[in-house]
Amino acid sequence: MTATRTRLVLGNWKMHGNLADNTKLLNALLAAPRAATTTQMGVCVPFPYLAQTALALSGSSIAWGAQDISVHAQGAYTGEVSGGMLKDFSCHYVLVGHSERRAMHAESDQLVADKARAALAAGLTPVVCVGESLAERDAGQAVSVITRQLAPVLALGSEAVLKMVIAYEPVWAIGTGRTATPEQAQEVHAAIRAALKGVGAEQVQILYGGSVKAANAASLFAMPDIDGALVGGASLVAEDFLAIAA
Ligand code: PEP
Repeated sequence: MTATRTRLVLGNWKMHGNLADNTKLLNALLAAPRAATTTQMGVCVPFPYLAQTALALSGSSIAWGAQDISVHAQGAYTGEVSGGMLKDFSCHYVLVGHSERRAMHAESDQLVADKARAALAAGLTPVVCVGESLAERDAGQAVSVITRQLAPVLALGSEAVLKMVIAYEPVWAIGTGRTATPEQAQEVHAAIRAALKGVGAEQVQILYGGSVKAANAASLFAMPDIDGALVGGASLVAEDFLAIAA
């Protein structure tokens, strides 16, 4: 990783948590002594817990965000949450295009790009998730799938892309305990970096996600184009999440 890109370790709580458990988790994150580090930490929490998280983390060095955003600013969109609403809770980050949303909610590449644009319009940092399925990897299509997923995002132009974070999350590694090897991840990260360079956004942070744990974080982070991690399961256990960031 070059000196110009800071490291980011972002938790994705998915649909986990409750008020009592969240308090314990957030307090444990806040209480942990953190070595002098430039690693930014953040948590993306379910919508109902944004107020609790904002109250707990306000004034700390840990950022917070949401896991999805509407493309619309307001209106008759039952169940949706706008960028302005997320901003009301001082969110910094919002995930867009997580593979679980692409798969379970049929989110298209274009919709994901539209969500990234809506996030930017609200002053949020979109974390654009991309990743291939196992079948696509086995067919040798990993890079071409990521290139296709990124195309409408990159079409938003350099000024927009420079304000984003990209997360490479191979679908076969999410929640499966199976992690991409550092070399497999680096190969795709390098391709993403090249695509970013093509639109003048080479310095954008690219996170790796997929069963990241303390045991494999260091070898992944040693790769030149891996700037941090998007962490699911391990972000629910304070000591595991802190160990990854450390
Ligand atoms: C994720 O949900 O973004 C993720 C990477 O999950 P896990 O770390 O549990 O594989």
